[in-house]
Amino acid sequence: MNSEKLSKRLETVAKYVPVGARLADIGSDHAYLPCYLVSNGLISHAIAGEVVEGPYQSAKRHVEELGLFQKILVRKGDGLEVIQPGEVDIISIAGMGGSLIASILEQGKEKLEQVKRLVLQPNISAISIREWLLDNGWGLIIEEIIEEDDKIYEILVAERGNEHEPYQNNLEQGLLLGPYLLQENNPVFRKKWQMEKETWLKILNQLQHASPSSQNEDKRQELLKKIKLVEEILEK
Ligand code: SAM
Repeated sequence: MNSEKLSKRLETVAKYVPVGARLADIGSDHAYLPCYLVSNGLISHAIAGEVVEGPYQSAKRHVEELGLFQKILVRKGDGLEVIQPGEVDIISIAGMGGSLIASILEQGKEKLEQVKRLVLQPNISAISIREWLLDNGWGLIIEEIIEEDDKIYEILVAERGNEHEPYQNNLEQGLLLGPYLLQENNPVFRKKWQMEKETWLKILNQLQHASPSSQNEDKRQELLKKIKLVEEILEK
């Protein structure tokens, strides 16, 4: 992968960064996304934030190799601490678990005041992001689900306000599956939830053979609930 050619996953994230945006890409190993956007003239400047030394060095090296060091500032730091309030209007966070993405947003809340759009790509647990967005006044405007190299990814785009609107009367299912994705119910979405359901059924089977405890019973009830929510959609 290089700045000329992005993975399908990052290309989908890139698609939702508006032309001319002031972007901060958080967790920017190699700075692939900012390099792609800047070298293709889609944005003029960006910040690439990284908390771990190795990926931070890789990002710096890649930016320097492309001669983009005046346009892409690579900063080392945890989450949104690498940006100043009002410095950017778009934040992308890709390739991490949904609960880590939600905790980065939570810890950096005061930096979000002038941010107009979040483009988020959780590898797992998109539900943690949807819950955080709903609790913090960010409305989902777009969701996309894609498959690449036998992996399935969700891309969530949010802007301020109308946070309840996408869910209508279907909050529980919407938070788990994605309000737009469940409406669209496309083959990649169906494949993902069919696989999740099979995993949950295996866990249920193991729990049935485990020694009875209130903790196991809670887990069993939770799985049964999720299986029911998913089955309702897969039957459509
Ligand atoms: N965003 C790139 C992508 O989607 O290809 C890189 C994804 S990589 C799997 C996740 C990166 O996030 C790692 O380089 C990791 O060091 C970084 N990261 C994890 N937690 C972070 C945090 N709190 N602040 C900044 N970076 C973080």
